[in-house]
Amino acid sequence: MDLGIRGRKAIVCAASKGLGRGCAEALAAAGVELVLNARGEKALEATAAAIRERHGVAVTAVAADITATEGRDAVLAACRESDILVTNAGGPPPGIWSDWSREDFLKAIDANMLTPIALMQAVLPGMIERRWGRVVNITSGAVKSPIAALGLSNTARTGLTGFVAGTSRQVAEHGVVINNLLPGVHATDRADALDKGVMAARGIDLDTARAQRAATIPARRYGTPGEFGAACAFLCSVHAGFIVGQNLLIDGGAFNATL
Ligand code: NAP
Repeated sequence: MDLGIRGRKAIVCAASKGLGRGCAEALAAAGVELVLNARGEKALEATAAAIRERHGVAVTAVAADITATEGRDAVLAACRESDILVTNAGGPPPGIWSDWSREDFLKAIDANMLTPIALMQAVLPGMIERRWGRVVNITSGAVKSPIAALGLSNTARTGLTGFVAGTSRQVAEHGVVINNLLPGVHATDRADALDKGVMAARGIDLDTARAQRAATIPARRYGTPGEFGAACAFLCSVHAGFIVGQNLLIDGGAFNATL
């Protein structure tokens, strides 16, 4: 399927690895020019070079912390007229409700709620003026079905979901659509880190921790960044203009519900 976005310009945040990289790869495969961001310069440059070589599109790498004002400014300056925005950042650490301080909550809310909101506020006016835009926020399946140990994530991402629910309906008349992608378990460094925590807590090896988690998913496996990226590229395509303010779970059937 031709996604109809060849030559469009996208900002993809937190994208040197994992799900963000999966989205960047899929957009590049559709002919989209990229501004790619992550903090670590080495991995980011390597990813940018690999995407340029594989897909022949222009890729500008901006090494910066997307949760900091200066980092966001640097990313936005590299793409003044973005058609597509994919927001993403690292997830908050696991823990228990009784331990989290006000500072822990503020940090999580800053990274996983206020950062994507600030990015949307920066790009939406231009998209509205040009009468075309696509925003995909990478949130989490935890928005629909809370993961107790990830209470900081549950809290921050639910706030973002509320903002998108209203805002997406305000900008849709201008040809700008905003949707959220909700990952379940995917094979990335983040999943690895959580599995290592389980391994240590339960005194089991890593393969056993992974197998136990995979067994809880109807698909009996982890998702891949490639599958996730393909869904993102579709939501950024010309075909997704009537999909507004949705929260699409990509979780191998893990969320058990009829609707
Ligand atoms: P990952 O494999 O650890 O990759 C994270 C990427 O984000 C890396 O490129 C990292 O590079 C970059 N990054 C992290 N913090 C950043 C920051 N402050 N500024 C700029 N770049 C930053 O993680 P992932 O699994 O793809 O997860 C992506 C998001 O989806 C996270 O918020 C995660 O909580 C959420 N999620 C993941 C899963 C899963 O199973 N994988 C499930 C549900 C939700 P640098 O470290 O160099 O900056």
